[in-house]
Amino acid sequence: MRGLQVSFPGLRFLVTIIALVWLLTAIGLGWLVKSFLILIVLLLLAPVVGYVGLRWWLQRNMVTSECPVCHSTTVGLRSSQFECVACGEPLEFDRDHAVRVAPPGTVDVEVIEVPKEEILD
Ligand SMILES: [Zn+2]
Repeated sequence: MRGLQVSFPGLRFLVTIIALVWLLTAIGLGWLVKSFLILIVLLLLAPVVGYVGLRWWLQRNMVTSECPVCHSTTVGLRSSQFECVACGEPLEFDRDHAVRVAPPGTVDVEVIEVPKEEILD
């Protein structure tokens, strides 16, 4: 019997918990046991629900697009401004593609390199 106690160190704790639950329900405090069990179930479910909710929210709001300045692939949230990780340009999403954040009145120009011989002709 002594060897049995040594081989199950958690048995005493388990028996104590069962006895405590039985005692509490016997004296009419079953609601305390039930509320404690509900609290434990909520504590176990909260991380799972949080993880699934966070994944769902990221799938709806995270967009991958090409940077209009350096043409590298960049990832950002649909509703907020972010910076390109490659060139640091402030960007925001217009529908499903990234656009530069520029002050009002800014005109984007595209630079075209013209060879000197072509200008002289
Ligand atoms: Zn960039």
